[in-house]
Amino acid sequence: MVDLKGQYSKIKEVVDSSIAEVLDSTAYINGPKVHEFQKNLESYLNVKHVIPCANGTDALQIAMMGLNLKPGDEVITADFTFAATVEVIALLQLTPVLVDVDPVSFNIDIEAIKKAITPKTKAIVPVHLFGQCANMEAIMAIAEEHNLYVIEDNAQAIGATYTYSNGKKAKAGTIGHVASTSFFPSKNLGCYGDGGAIFTNDDDLAHYIRGIVNHGMYERYHHDVVGVNSRLDSIQAAVLDAKLPHLDTYNKARRNAARAYNKAFENHENILIPSGNDTCKGICDICDCHVFHQYTLRLKNTNRDPLVKHLNDNGIPCGVYYPIPLHLQKAYKDSRYKEDDFKVTNQLVEEVISLPMHTELDDEQIEFITSTVINFVNSNS
Ligand SMILES: *Cc1c(COP(=O)(O)O)cnc(C)c1O
Repeated sequence: MVDLKGQYSKIKEVVDSSIAEVLDSTAYINGPKVHEFQKNLESYLNVKHVIPCANGTDALQIAMMGLNLKPGDEVITADFTFAATVEVIALLQLTPVLVDVDPVSFNIDIEAIKKAITPKTKAIVPVHLFGQCANMEAIMAIAEEHNLYVIEDNAQAIGATYTYSNGKKAKAGTIGHVASTSFFPSKNLGCYGDGGAIFTNDDDLAHYIRGIVNHGMYERYHHDVVGVNSRLDSIQAAVLDAKLPHLDTYNKARRNAARAYNKAFENHENILIPSGNDTCKGICDICDCHVFHQYTLRLKNTNRDPLVKHLNDNGIPCGVYYPIPLHLQKAYKDSRYKEDDFKVTNQLVEEVISLPMHTELDDEQIEFITSTVINFVNSNS
């Protein structure tokens, strides 16, 4: 699904020397590299505060801890996402409220959010799924009306740009009250181990969160709040700082691959291509609305699982993100949920298939992948 080795070989010298600097300095934890990367990411995103931490799941949890949400508070999030999003809500003894998604963008459905709001609702967690921002303008308006926090789960969309209806632009993860991201190796900006970060424009919240990630300390050995230990290590920061200047190029390469995939699949009656915004379908480099963390098709009139097997038999990796809706997972079942409220997710889990998507895909590979998919679908639908 990814080609981390191909990507590494192109930047090996810079990455290796950046890592060697850390080894020489022995500043393995909270070294200067961590601070450098933090500053560089702040300026890339145009956000006031980046707080590095150990992984994307921690980032989400810490963001929620920073908002002082209390047990029993309801947090609305999407039914169609990676489990980390709902996991941390439950772990903090908040009440997850899963809602359906939009069939075109795969992102949290705005009407479903409105329907799910109760007097106990305290926050909304939109996930910018597969590299495309949720409808942040509508979500921020709902949040303002009901006095809710918005925590962006930006693990899959770092570098994407959100354009407001008035033309104003902002990077994904800088729109809500706070955001989290992951630097897991296969993410759009991935390190060579685990890593994550929290973003916010709120000075007080940033200060509070900087203490939470460090055992609740604001002054050495004074523990003012219950915190956690969540750090980005200096070697990972060195890798990330070497890769950050390439992020836009990487995201462009992903869009190039998406454009080639789209060209092969568009107008196929049983293959629905992913969509970006209405005008560009996500594949222009101008609005930057989609960074294709995943390239995900919907199959019509075709059984997906035999296609998955056929692709694997032909040496083509593929993924099903996600095969089971969160509301049907044992850990997150809730008697309040009605199947009727999850029509879209229930359908997507049957239809979606994600094809290889990374920065090193070439035309020949894409041609092999697309023709293998099309031939199978044509003879099996
Ligand atoms: C990857 C991911 C996470 C978790 O990130 P980790 O660094 O693996 O903890 C959270 N949310 C979403 C949507 C993700 O894709």
